[in-house]
Amino acid sequence: MNRVFVLSSIKKPLMPCTPARARRLLRDGKAAVYRLQPFTIILRFRADGDTQSIGFKTDPGSKTSGIALVAESQSGRQVIWAANLQHRGQAVRANLAARRALRRGRRSRNTRYRAARFQNRTRPTGWLPPSLESRVGNLRTWYSRLLGFTPITSAEVETVRFDTHALAHPGIQGVEYQQGTLAGTEVREYLLEKWQRTCAYCGKTGVPLQVEHIQPRSKGGSNRISNLTLACEPCNTRKGNRPLAEFLAAKPEQMRRIQTQANAPLRDAAAVNATRYAIGNAIRTFGLPTGFWSGGRTKFNRTCQGYPKDHWIDAACVGETGAAVHVPQGFRPLSIKATGRGTRQVVRTDRYGFPRGAAGRCKRVFGFQTGDLVRLEQPAGKYSGTHVGRLAGIRADGRFDIKTASAQITSTYQRFTLLQRSDGYEYQIKSGERAG
Ligand SMILES: [Zn+2]
Repeated sequence: MNRVFVLSSIKKPLMPCTPARARRLLRDGKAAVYRLQPFTIILRFRADGDTQSIGFKTDPGSKTSGIALVAESQSGRQVIWAANLQHRGQAVRANLAARRALRRGRRSRNTRYRAARFQNRTRPTGWLPPSLESRVGNLRTWYSRLLGFTPITSAEVETVRFDTHALAHPGIQGVEYQQGTLAGTEVREYLLEKWQRTCAYCGKTGVPLQVEHIQPRSKGGSNRISNLTLACEPCNTRKGNRPLAEFLAAKPEQMRRIQTQANAPLRDAAAVNATRYAIGNAIRTFGLPTGFWSGGRTKFNRTCQGYPKDHWIDAACVGETGAAVHVPQGFRPLSIKATGRGTRQVVRTDRYGFPRGAAGRCKRVFGFQTGDLVRLEQPAGKYSGTHVGRLAGIRADGRFDIKTASAQITSTYQRFTLLQRSDGYEYQIKSGERAG
């Protein structure tokens, strides 16, 4: 269970407490609810308190990023709060594509020809496409929010998939890669990416793959990454200790393809990792000690401790300290989904690009806006009862849609109570959990 964030009476972040302790404090009137998602309480009478060190760790992903807060104490390191943060890269991309199409149509309608003028614009150094920039922004936002809720003392970010330095380093040669050593995990991850998780000889995917020497060790082949490939067990056994030229003597084309691919370095480094570096830099600018880490080493830490694969668990295993971190049994992370903060579009269009009505003139109706966390008291009808959820849509006449875990319900504004203002993110509220 995620710990509850605690603020002192002057809003200084204190050590997060267990939900049970938070309930006691609230019941005794020593604290008040400050925020529902993520759940934060504020102490009424204490302005200060002792804090220990808390590490912020993140494993940035293309669709979902894992976030974990790890507390350090005498008894060891433990995950005290975790979240899976879902990005909206695809939505950003689709919005921009739609805008581009509309503008293109508008530009060319009833006008003389005008030459393209794209070359008179420059991009600043470090520019990222908006869909990727939104990922950087999401993590920057959450790091900065968590800094306000909890006394974070350091940060660790997974910035690269593979430690290319370790791969290129001569020390990697001769390392027993099959025994699951650290460098071995790194090599394996690199090979999986490079060979697209397929057997080089039969093209099978979704089967366990073994690291294979193209030129066998017994015939003088090296442990260099350019002499390694992946093969399924039958193929590996079949090839045995024969050199590639002998094994694929009947298929010269396939042999040439494997040789070319083996010698080509993976096109990763700069381009693939650009977003992760940008995230690392964004987090470093907050000024706390920040460490960078590689994905291969994260996976090594996680598998050594026998944890299943999940974004937040990967996050907890980032960094030197990720080699020994306790993930409590049955721990449930918070699900956070980036939703954006509305649109600036003035006129909506139908699928042919013609204007169709107009967007609302103001964002708020009777004090509510899309994305607010609200409670609905529905007196009668199919959905009678109390519902808690996110406002999915508002209309100027005061009829609102609420989206709960199970349904979308329309009702009038008088029956809604505002619980928390929209902050650009949607939180998964699990049924049975106290809303506050
Ligand atoms: Zn095979």
